[in-house]
Amino acid sequence: MNAEIIAVGSELLTPHRQDTNSLYLTEKLNELGIEVRFKCIVGDDAEGLTAAAKLAMRRSDIIIFSGGLGPTEDDLTREAVADALGLKLQRDPEIIAKLEERFAKRGMKMSANNAKQADILTSAAMLPNTLGTAPGQWISGKYDGDERLIMLLPGPPYELKAMFEGECMSRLRARVPAQHIAWRTLKMAMMPESQVDGRVAPIYKTYSDVETTILAGAGEIQLHLRCRKDSQAEAEARVEELAEKIEDELGDAIFSRKGETIEQIVSYLLQMRNMTLAVAESCTGGQLAERITSLSGSSRYFLGGAVVYSNELKTQFANVPKALIKQHGAVSREVAASMAEGIRKRCLSSYGVGITGVAGPSGGTEQKPVGLVYIALAGEEGTQVVERNFPGDRKRIRQFSTQQALEMIRRALL
Ligand code: AMP
Ligand code: MG
Repeated sequence: MNAEIIAVGSELLTPHRQDTNSLYLTEKLNELGIEVRFKCIVGDDAEGLTAAAKLAMRRSDIIIFSGGLGPTEDDLTREAVADALGLKLQRDPEIIAKLEERFAKRGMKMSANNAKQADILTSAAMLPNTLGTAPGQWISGKYDGDERLIMLLPGPPYELKAMFEGECMSRLRARVPAQHIAWRTLKMAMMPESQVDGRVAPIYKTYSDVETTILAGAGEIQLHLRCRKDSQAEAEARVEELAEKIEDELGDAIFSRKGETIEQIVSYLLQMRNMTLAVAESCTGGQLAERITSLSGSSRYFLGGAVVYSNELKTQFANVPKALIKQHGAVSREVAASMAEGIRKRCLSSYGVGITGVAGPSGGTEQKPVGLVYIALAGEEGTQVVERNFPGDRKRIRQFSTQQALEMIRRALL
């Protein structure tokens, strides 16, 4: 069965509000083995809503509306659905009584426009709203010969969640043939998307029943594998088989198989080896330390470090010789190595990281352009430095830099 989500609200078409309800609903529907085939966002506009409802009725088995059930003029979902389905709205006196009671409890009088929240579509079942005034509606029936399930849910995310979990999940479970979805997320760091795809596409293309998608971020590629089968075991077996083949191809380039972040993997490896870490950061301004310490328990392996933005502090806090900076410049292989070694010595850690670069957008030169970053890792076995020319804006360059550092630590610990 395929579902369609229609998120209603003009605010969702502005840059200020995101439609998060559909993400939540998608997760829950997937748990039931229901795929979301279409999502649509419509403003508070009667004509647009009716058109969206009509289109959904033609192409989707399950249609979930979120929002537009409030008491105001711009709440039009009920009317639009009635129009699209050719149903009437009937005011339910029982709901009116309940609404009045709800207001009275708070010492308030219900205003006249609230009454419209008691308008229920003929043939709909009312879904009680435990957290707000707008009841939801559940309609099931044949339209143009096709079986359709339609839900009208309130827009406020906490109301929608309570209603979906309290009223809709069990109803859906009873109606929908048991289908099961298994998924895996494989993550790789510092590999170009094209390279990953070039190597794994020939493998996943032979698994037409497993949906494979590639997500690319700054320094991280994720491969999402999803499979839908009649039993969970069957679905799990298929994704597992494909995941194993991809793992054979990419080997230890894959840092995560269960959705862990690279910070978590580095944390795990450092603790397993009983090792500690300290950092000296210039162009990343503490972002590496921030990422590492975002995990609870990081004090077990992270000692600390310094943000050494100025040349003076590179010398004072990370023991970088003044002459070295003068000779090679602050953004150089030599200074990155010296920062890593210096902070390791100052902090008495197993590993030291040094990052220096040009994050831009200003400050680049022909020899040292924006995006040029040196990342060094110093340990007992010596110091390695990587020179990279990262693309993108300041934010991306800094993200790439800390990702590269984490990947170097991970690789050193393998
Ligand atoms: P409504 O039911 O249209 O009156 O929505 C009430 C509130 O819920 C508004 O403040 C919306 O911003 C919020 N809301 C409505 N739809 C969504 C959605 N799809 N995702 C997140 N928030 C929403
Ligand atoms: Mg609204």
